Amino acid sequence: MEESLVRKKAELILGGDIRIPEGFRVPFRISRSTAGPGAGKRGVVFAFGGTRVKKGIVNSGGDFELVANDDGLSLTRGGDAFIDNVTMEPVVFHAPGQAFFNMDNRCIFRCVYCKSPNLENGSRVSGETMASMIRGLPDDADVGGIAVTSGVFGSVEDTVKDMIDCVSVLHREFPDLPIGAEPYVNDESQIDAFRDAGVTEMKINVEAARRDIFDRACPGLDQDIILRMLEHSVSVFGRGKVASNIIIGLGETDRDVEDMLERLCAMGVVPGLRPLKAGPEELMRISDAVGIPAGTDAERVIRLAKTQKRILMKHGLDISGFRTMCFACGCCDLVPFRDL
Ligand code: SF4
Repeated sequence: MEESLVRKKAELILGGDIRIPEGFRVPFRISRSTAGPGAGKRGVVFAFGGTRVKKGIVNSGGDFELVANDDGLSLTRGGDAFIDNVTMEPVVFHAPGQAFFNMDNRCIFRCVYCKSPNLENGSRVSGETMASMIRGLPDDADVGGIAVTSGVFGSVEDTVKDMIDCVSVLHREFPDLPIGAEPYVNDESQIDAFRDAGVTEMKINVEAARRDIFDRACPGLDQDIILRMLEHSVSVFGRGKVASNIIIGLGETDRDVEDMLERLCAMGVVPGLRPLKAGPEELMRISDAVGIPAGTDAERVIRLAKTQKRILMKHGLDISGFRTMCFACGCCDLVPFRDL
């Protein structure tokens, strides 16, 4: 993708909502996510130049504006031209091209950057409900994969067991579709059980680039366990079939990110770099916890994405093994081998 569009994607990822014109009707069902950077917001996928972003939409305010005229759609920022020739893409559930479910938006853990525990009306979604939601999609819906994530509610073991039940139902009902799982796991046998239930690709997030930041940002979670689970996942699903997000903007240095990228790639894990998205409440919790103002800018997002690609290549890895979750979607990050 053209360098100027890479920068614009980075700015969109880091920026706020998109204001839509009064009376404009979004031509698709609007996504209301309960996980990921857009948790709690009405989201729409905007495509341009061969890439796409998912952004919150608002009727007033916002950092960007959608402009609709006879030539089609474009984006402006503060009234100035920003990106021409924009289209909108439908989401299946949460993401374009896949049915990505959050089984439970509640969580007993309190990672400082996470919005999930603050969302109202928590509940647990069953595999049968997920399957009937997929069956209820229009015939022309583009469902290339299924993915399941979840907050941890009750215990890790109970949550994992329920996720595995969901996967079993989904695999039974849709045996030809790839299934991704993004759980918090604490025992190798749980990973084996996900595979046995039908999961084909795994994502376990290492969250922070540096251990001391992780310990302060994710009290109650254990990064050593996560790394151990990732190692076992590679032995179960294979190199290039296991992903892990590193959040950038928590006070870590570029060197910290590079070290974690190296560590994960050396294990055969494909790391994703997820720029921090936080509202005022999360920002306050983050700065209380990590003691350093959080944040990052477009230059850094681009620089680190190039580092990520270089290290992936060095280890013979790429993103082609993923048909579900964030590498298949590509809406919230600069994706190596696709965007740059
Ligand atoms: S990149 Fe990941 S978090 Fe973002 S919309 Fe796509 S699936 Fe969701």
